Amino acid sequence: MIGNMAELNIKKKTDISDGMDYVKPSIKKSNDQKPQGLNMKLIIYVAVIIAFISSVGSCFDNVIVVESDRELYAMDTYMTFKVYGKDRDKALDEIVRRVQELDEIFSVGKDDSQISKLNKRHALIEQEEVSDVISKSLEVSKDTDGAFDITVYPLMKEWGFTTEDYKVVDDDKLSEILKNVDYKNVEVDCGDIILGGNTEVDLGGIVKGYTGDVIAEILSKYNIKAAVVSLGGNIEVYKKKADGKPWKIAIDNPEKDNDKDASPVGYIEIDDAGSGKAVVTSGDYERFFEKDGVKYHHILDPKTGKSVKNGVRSVTIVSDDGILADALSTALFVMGKDKAYEYWKNHKDEFDYVMILENKQVYASSGLDGKLTTDYDLEIVR
Ligand code: ADP
Ligand code: MG
Repeated sequence: MIGNMAELNIKKKTDISDGMDYVKPSIKKSNDQKPQGLNMKLIIYVAVIIAFISSVGSCFDNVIVVESDRELYAMDTYMTFKVYGKDRDKALDEIVRRVQELDEIFSVGKDDSQISKLNKRHALIEQEEVSDVISKSLEVSKDTDGAFDITVYPLMKEWGFTTEDYKVVDDDKLSEILKNVDYKNVEVDCGDIILGGNTEVDLGGIVKGYTGDVIAEILSKYNIKAAVVSLGGNIEVYKKKADGKPWKIAIDNPEKDNDKDASPVGYIEIDDAGSGKAVVTSGDYERFFEKDGVKYHHILDPKTGKSVKNGVRSVTIVSDDGILADALSTALFVMGKDKAYEYWKNHKDEFDYVMILENKQVYASSGLDGKLTTDYDLEIVR
């Protein structure tokens, strides 16, 4: 999904604070030979000015939150970062470095990524970060009865989603490929990973969620005051907005597949995102193709090998746990309305969800009651 949710209402300059940027004293050195007395006076003046600026600066540091923005194209998507606080640029430098590094490690599209190596050799050793993310994927697979399954990769290739050279795959071919689609073929052991048979993996359904968690850690390391990060369909908000208003996150309109400018279906408000909240959407409207009037999209049912067709158009997950949110946005899409509800009922304390159906009915779990606004027909499930 590329840019399917937009954080709205982030003002470049917020009310209490951002009226001014940091005042940076730039004192020119003078080579002029001036009388000693004047030099001393000048030194005292300068010292007073510096003391004043730094005291005001440190006051501002507590009261005023100044913003830095960055943009980046990575993980096949356009990313934006807004970070508020004193060490925002240091935090952003580290974030950008880490996101690029994670892209190099996890991208199936890059020949020398660790995931490509794993898919070629069917084994990878001493790659703790990769095995951690795969372990989490397998946990979700088990818990969702295989609705989330990273071994769909050979299917993704066959349908052409990896190259955009799309084709409709016939049933014989599908059943042949499906023999190797099973998360149980993936074995993880302390940094080592083994893929059984011809199994291959694609972490596209989870890696941006993991990246969101990594970013949240960096934000807290630098004592950042507030931040909002958009990684395509994954939004990560951090702490509270400087103007005291809630973060307001738009939920994309699935009609965007026909009308790029379709206005959002609704908005989720988050007052305080604490040490990081992920808002992640999976939808059928970002990556798809049409053939003979039939639409084929990039969320696959690992049991049939085909694009999911169950009346769901999008699922948004809200959770403190970014990696879980990402995997579940895909999994609940695959499950469909009733199974998704049952699943949520057993995991209420871990996440909330919004599901948009083809008939424009919107379902949201009770944790979002009063926080979600929409013009569509909304039912809060409990
Ligand atoms: P994106 O934000 O990249 O669109 P999603 O979270 O919506 O990602 O997940 C879709 C991606 O996950 C696909 O592009 C594919 O790489 C992978 N995928 C597709 N179907 C499944 C599935 N059932 N389980 C796990 N991963 C999947
Ligand atoms: Mg996902």
